[in-house]
Amino acid sequence: MVVGCLALNASFEPLTLVPMRRALRLVLDGKAEIVEADHGKVVRSAQLSFPRPAVIRLTRFIHVPRRFRRQVTNTFLFARDHYRCQYCGRWQHELRPREALTRDHLIPLSRGGTNVWTNVVTACSPCNTRKANRLPAEIGMQPMHVPVEPHFVHLSWAVRRLTPTQARYIKMFYGAETLHQLASLDKR
Ligand SMILES: [Zn+2]
Repeated sequence: MVVGCLALNASFEPLTLVPMRRALRLVLDGKAEIVEADHGKVVRSAQLSFPRPAVIRLTRFIHVPRRFRRQVTNTFLFARDHYRCQYCGRWQHELRPREALTRDHLIPLSRGGTNVWTNVVTACSPCNTRKANRLPAEIGMQPMHVPVEPHFVHLSWAVRRLTPTQARYIKMFYGAETLHQLASLDKR
Protein backbone atom coordinates (compact mmCIF):
# COMPACT_ATOMS: atom_id res chain seq x y z
CA MET A 1 0.00 0.00 0.00
CA VAL A 2 1.34 3.40 -1.00
CA VAL A 3 1.00 5.87 1.82
CA GLY A 4 -0.18 9.25 0.70
CA CYS A 5 -0.19 12.52 2.52
CA LEU A 6 -3.39 14.55 2.72
CA ALA A 7 -2.81 18.05 1.36
CA LEU A 8 -4.98 20.87 2.66
CA ASN A 9 -5.39 24.23 1.06
CA ALA A 10 -4.28 27.27 3.08
CA SER A 11 -7.96 27.52 4.03
CA PHE A 12 -7.75 23.98 5.50
CA GLU A 13 -9.95 22.66 2.71
CA PRO A 14 -8.84 19.08 1.98
CA LEU A 15 -7.53 18.94 -1.59
CA THR A 16 -6.08 15.60 -2.42
CA LEU A 17 -3.72 12.86 -1.37
CA VAL A 18 -0.23 13.39 -2.67
CA PRO A 19 2.62 10.89 -2.78
CA MET A 20 4.96 11.16 0.21
CA ARG A 21 7.90 12.26 -1.90
CA ARG A 22 5.91 15.14 -3.32
CA ALA A 23 4.64 16.13 0.13
CA LEU A 24 8.20 16.27 1.45
CA ARG A 25 9.29 18.35 -1.49
CA LEU A 26 6.53 20.88 -0.78
CA VAL A 27 7.54 21.07 2.88
CA LEU A 28 11.26 21.37 2.15
CA ASP A 29 10.56 24.11 -0.39
CA GLY A 30 8.51 26.03 2.15
CA LYS A 31 5.36 25.63 0.07
CA ALA A 32 3.59 23.63 2.75
CA GLU A 33 3.76 23.05 6.48
CA ILE A 34 3.22 19.82 8.35
CA VAL A 35 -0.08 19.84 10.22
CA GLU A 36 -0.07 16.26 11.42
CA ALA A 37 2.79 13.84 11.44
CA ASP A 38 3.11 10.15 11.88
CA HIS A 39 5.38 10.16 14.89
CA GLY A 40 6.29 6.54 14.64
CA LYS A 41 7.94 7.12 11.26
CA VAL A 42 10.83 9.39 10.46
CA VAL A 43 11.93 10.61 7.06
CA ARG A 44 15.41 11.92 6.40
CA SER A 45 16.86 14.17 3.79
CA ALA A 46 20.53 15.08 3.49
CA GLN A 47 20.41 17.58 6.34
CA LEU A 48 17.09 17.07 8.06
CA SER A 49 15.03 14.41 9.68
CA PHE A 50 11.46 14.88 10.76
CA PRO A 51 8.32 12.87 11.43
CA ARG A 52 6.63 11.59 8.29
CA PRO A 53 3.85 14.02 7.35
CA ALA A 54 0.30 12.67 7.36
CA VAL A 55 -1.41 15.99 6.69
CA ILE A 56 0.20 19.07 5.17
CA ARG A 57 -1.22 22.51 4.53
CA LEU A 58 -0.21 24.73 1.64
CA THR A 59 1.22 28.04 2.78
CA ARG A 60 -0.46 29.92 -0.04
CA PHE A 61 -4.09 29.52 -1.06
CA ILE A 62 -4.57 27.96 -4.46
CA HIS A 63 -7.70 28.19 -6.51
CA VAL A 64 -9.08 24.76 -7.33
CA PRO A 65 -11.63 24.15 -10.05
CA ARG A 66 -14.69 22.50 -8.58
CA ARG A 67 -15.01 19.97 -11.31
CA PHE A 68 -12.70 17.34 -12.57
CA ARG A 69 -11.95 18.37 -16.13
CA ARG A 70 -9.43 15.72 -16.96
CA GLN A 71 -10.07 12.86 -19.30
CA VAL A 72 -12.26 10.14 -17.95
CA THR A 73 -10.10 7.29 -16.70
CA ASN A 74 -11.44 3.88 -15.83
CA THR A 75 -10.01 4.14 -12.33
CA PHE A 76 -12.13 7.19 -11.59
CA LEU A 77 -15.09 6.01 -13.62
CA PHE A 78 -15.36 2.76 -11.67
CA ALA A 79 -14.94 4.65 -8.39
CA ARG A 80 -17.72 7.06 -9.36
CA ASP A 81 -20.04 4.14 -10.07
CA HIS A 82 -19.05 2.36 -6.85
CA TYR A 83 -17.40 -0.53 -8.75
CA ARG A 84 -20.81 -1.72 -9.88
CA CYS A 85 -22.17 -2.58 -13.32
CA GLN A 86 -24.75 0.08 -14.00
CA TYR A 87 -26.93 -2.29 -16.00
CA CYS A 88 -27.16 -5.58 -14.11
CA GLY A 89 -26.10 -4.17 -10.74
CA ARG A 90 -23.37 -6.68 -10.06
CA TRP A 91 -20.43 -5.53 -7.98
CA GLN A 92 -16.88 -6.07 -9.13
CA HIS A 93 -16.40 -8.92 -6.64
CA GLU A 94 -19.48 -10.69 -8.02
CA LEU A 95 -18.07 -11.00 -11.54
CA ARG A 96 -17.05 -14.40 -12.81
CA PRO A 97 -13.53 -15.25 -13.89
CA ARG A 98 -12.78 -13.66 -17.28
CA GLU A 99 -15.45 -11.00 -16.73
CA ALA A 100 -14.37 -7.47 -15.97
CA LEU A 101 -15.67 -3.99 -15.44
CA THR A 102 -15.51 -1.91 -18.60
CA ARG A 103 -16.43 1.51 -19.83
CA ASP A 104 -19.72 1.72 -21.71
CA HIS A 105 -20.79 4.71 -23.76
CA LEU A 106 -24.51 5.48 -23.48
CA ILE A 107 -24.41 6.98 -26.94
CA PRO A 108 -21.88 4.71 -28.64
CA LEU A 109 -18.74 6.27 -30.07
CA SER A 110 -19.73 4.85 -33.46
CA ARG A 111 -22.89 6.95 -33.30
CA GLY A 112 -21.35 10.21 -32.29
CA GLY A 113 -21.05 9.72 -28.54
CA THR A 114 -18.01 11.10 -26.78
CA ASN A 115 -15.83 10.27 -23.79
CA VAL A 116 -17.40 12.72 -21.37
CA TRP A 117 -18.47 11.93 -17.82
CA THR A 118 -22.14 12.25 -18.71
CA ASN A 119 -21.89 9.70 -21.52
CA VAL A 120 -19.95 6.93 -19.83
CA VAL A 121 -20.95 4.35 -17.25
CA THR A 122 -19.37 1.31 -15.68
CA ALA A 123 -20.60 -1.91 -17.24
CA CYS A 124 -19.57 -5.52 -16.79
CA SER A 125 -18.15 -7.06 -19.95
CA PRO A 126 -21.26 -9.20 -20.71
CA CYS A 127 -23.58 -6.17 -20.40
CA ASN A 128 -21.25 -4.10 -22.53
CA THR A 129 -21.22 -6.81 -25.20
CA ARG A 130 -25.00 -7.13 -25.06
CA LYS A 131 -25.58 -3.41 -25.40
CA ALA A 132 -23.10 -3.22 -28.29
CA ASN A 133 -23.66 -0.14 -30.43
CA ARG A 134 -27.24 0.52 -29.45
CA LEU A 135 -28.78 3.39 -27.55
CA PRO A 136 -30.18 2.59 -24.08
CA ALA A 137 -33.77 3.04 -25.30
CA GLU A 138 -33.27 0.76 -28.31
CA ILE A 139 -32.29 -2.20 -26.18
CA GLY A 140 -34.06 -1.29 -22.96
CA MET A 141 -30.88 -0.99 -20.91
CA GLN A 142 -30.96 2.06 -18.68
CA PRO A 143 -28.14 2.72 -16.21
CA MET A 144 -29.04 2.59 -12.51
CA HIS A 145 -27.82 6.16 -12.04
CA VAL A 146 -27.77 9.04 -14.48
CA PRO A 147 -24.06 9.61 -15.07
CA VAL A 148 -22.74 12.91 -13.77
CA GLU A 149 -19.39 14.61 -13.68
CA PRO A 150 -17.91 13.84 -10.27
CA HIS A 151 -16.19 16.08 -7.80
CA PHE A 152 -12.51 15.37 -8.35
CA VAL A 153 -11.58 15.60 -4.69
CA HIS A 154 -14.01 12.86 -3.73
CA LEU A 155 -12.63 10.64 -6.44
CA SER A 156 -9.03 11.11 -5.44
CA TRP A 157 -9.95 9.97 -1.92
CA ALA A 158 -12.07 7.13 -3.13
CA VAL A 159 -9.28 5.40 -4.99
CA ARG A 160 -6.82 5.66 -2.13
CA ARG A 161 -7.06 4.94 1.53
CA LEU A 162 -7.24 7.52 4.25
CA THR A 163 -5.67 7.11 7.64
CA PRO A 164 -7.86 7.97 10.67
CA THR A 165 -5.91 11.20 11.17
CA GLN A 166 -6.50 12.24 7.58
CA ALA A 167 -10.16 11.28 7.81
CA ARG A 168 -10.54 13.63 10.77
CA TYR A 169 -9.60 16.61 8.60
CA ILE A 170 -12.06 15.63 5.91
CA LYS A 171 -14.76 15.29 8.52
CA MET A 172 -13.90 18.70 9.94
CA PHE A 173 -14.31 20.35 6.58
CA TYR A 174 -16.99 18.34 4.81
CA GLY A 175 -18.84 16.68 7.67
CA ALA A 176 -19.42 13.08 8.62
CA GLU A 177 -21.72 12.39 5.66
CA THR A 178 -18.93 12.79 3.10
CA LEU A 179 -16.71 10.56 5.16
CA HIS A 180 -19.45 7.97 5.32
CA GLN A 181 -19.85 8.04 1.55
CA LEU A 182 -16.13 7.57 1.08
CA ALA A 183 -16.12 4.68 3.52
CA SER A 184 -18.90 2.97 1.57
CA LEU A 185 -16.86 3.33 -1.63
CA ASP A 186 -14.00 1.64 0.14
CA LYS A 187 -16.00 -1.51 0.87
CA ARG A 188 -15.55 -3.31 -2.37
ZN1 LIG B 1 -23.67 -6.10 -16.02
